[in-house]
Amino acid sequence: SCNSKKPENLIEKLNQYSSVKKVIGVVSGKGGVGKSLVTSTLAVTMNRKGYKTAILDADITGPSIPKSFGIHEKAKGNDDGIFPAKTKDGIDIMSINLLLPDETSPVVWRGPVIAGAVKQFWTDVIWSDIDYMFVDMPPGTGDVPLTVFQSLPVDGIIIVTSPQELVSMIVEKAVNMANIMNIPILGIVENMSYFKCPDCGKEHKIYGESHIEEIAKKNNLEVLAKLPIDPSLAKLVDAGEVENFQGDFMDNVAKKVETTCKI
Ligand code: ADP
Repeated sequence: SCNSKKPENLIEKLNQYSSVKKVIGVVSGKGGVGKSLVTSTLAVTMNRKGYKTAILDADITGPSIPKSFGIHEKAKGNDDGIFPAKTKDGIDIMSINLLLPDETSPVVWRGPVIAGAVKQFWTDVIWSDIDYMFVDMPPGTGDVPLTVFQSLPVDGIIIVTSPQELVSMIVEKAVNMANIMNIPILGIVENMSYFKCPDCGKEHKIYGESHIEEIAKKNNLEVLAKLPIDPSLAKLVDAGEVENFQGDFMDNVAKKVETTCKI
């Protein structure tokens, strides 16, 4: 179940005008494995199901969520708080890119400052009537993601891996982090598992066999989805049109979220 006991003392208060029912953190061992893609397509899938959905982009040093939804304007606010940006289909989004004057300037902050910014996304942003918030976590299993975890009342975690990584180590580290925080892991999404040849339909395992099933089993976890390398998906993300993706590849993940973390 995802009503785990969370360390109340570590969690900052939500903005008084906000309401968020469930918070799902999306984690990965390193950058570039598709954590943001999984976060955004999962949020789109939940939004299509009719849930009020939000994305908190906590990947402060590599924020890619706004761009994938084609959002370039800055956030507005008043004395009560900051308003998230809204995507075309109505997903609420907050990211450091909506606050910085120049979205191409790199953020070189240290861990505590990053965690402080994420805390403010929770305390100062007006999240109105959100059923599911998906948090694109900072990559890795070190200090920064751990501090961010301690700043938000996360109800469940999804681990994103790709076959190029030292997956068993990453999964074990994520399990340890989840145990420290007392947060259940909903399962693993393997990204870039294979490439389906558009001409012959044959599936090629570019990075070899992944062993994700064994690793999941060993850690008592479920593999919720295996996504192919899909150039058309990358194109949509680049064009800021991730909301137009086709296919049911996130359906099983969405189902896991809505059944385990019932609102
Ligand atoms: P992360 O959040 O882990 O750093 P991203 O989600 O930003 O990774 O993905 C890194 C890059 O790879 C992006 O340009 C993204 O569009 C692309 N990408 C991710 N997953 C896939 C996939 N399954 N097929 C094709 N391109 C992908």
